[in-house]
Amino acid sequence: MKSLKVGNLDVRPGKVEKGSLGTFYRGDGAAVDIPLIVINGAGDGPTLWLSAGMHGQELSGVGVIWELVRDKVKPASLKGAVIAVPFMNPFSFTGGTYFTPQDGLNLHSTFPGDPEGSLTERLANLVYEEGIKKADVVIDLHCNPENAMMFTYAFDPDDQGVGRKGYKLAKAFGLTTVDGKPKPEGVSADIQDVAYHLGIPSFLVELTPYYSISPLAVSVGVRGVLNVMKSLMMIEGEIEPQVDVHVIEGRLGIVFGTSSRGGLVVPETSLGASITKGQTVGRVVDFFGDTLEEIINPVDGWMLTWPYLNHVFTGELVAMYVYPKG
Ligand SMILES: [Zn+2]
Repeated sequence: MKSLKVGNLDVRPGKVEKGSLGTFYRGDGAAVDIPLIVINGAGDGPTLWLSAGMHGQELSGVGVIWELVRDKVKPASLKGAVIAVPFMNPFSFTGGTYFTPQDGLNLHSTFPGDPEGSLTERLANLVYEEGIKKADVVIDLHCNPENAMMFTYAFDPDDQGVGRKGYKLAKAFGLTTVDGKPKPEGVSADIQDVAYHLGIPSFLVELTPYYSISPLAVSVGVRGVLNVMKSLMMIEGEIEPQVDVHVIEGRLGIVFGTSSRGGLVVPETSLGASITKGQTVGRVVDFFGDTLEEIINPVDGWMLTWPYLNHVFTGELVAMYVYPKG
């Protein structure tokens, strides 16, 4: 294993170091570093990119990285390396927002970014050039509110190359796994899309809840990342099933249900419940509690999430459903 240069770090084999992926500046001139942890294993193996904190409220993934670095991944017994960024978007974090407050952009859909663009575009480009391009596998940790199942999102395993590899790693993580298609190359896209087009297996993790570092989410996330590292032979050990949360097995597609009427959302079906096509799974109601619209499930499958807030506008996401594929 050689020394690994990332950001302002140059980490020798068998060492772990903390530093900065890159530096940006606030309006008062103060520097804001993008926190970076590099664990360079004593043995040869793949390099895993592990990020959290892309969205300011999504904190449990941050706790996952802290615990992995503090207690679980030891450089002496590691084959390969981990490049970990616990807070990818500190501006979104300090703003407590999903979007970067300074330019209103969503880092998640801004890759590969632009080194001469806005703050979020520059941040995306830094992550892309300095991080993703140095990785062999990419895992990005997110969180949904508590009214969602924990799940992973990977690419179509029928793709015999990079999609299949990423899907198998997502399955090793151990949660309900949904698969879809990558966005085309050349458009502003998600971190896992640009990784895919570089030929790097990738998947996204959605833990719950957000706004706090949840012990359950941290435990699930740590177990999942260690499972992936075991399947990559980076560490030794048996894959552990995710016994603490409900997991829907098999290959799954996802459907995004939107609302025609705005109003308060009243769920009437629990997460993970088996549902049939055409079933009323909940209601959109007004301030008097009167029904404005029944929420009709469009597939035979299972409930995956309810909305982020307890209300929706016309056309907003009201529920996600999953269905068996193939
Ligand atoms: Zn997110």
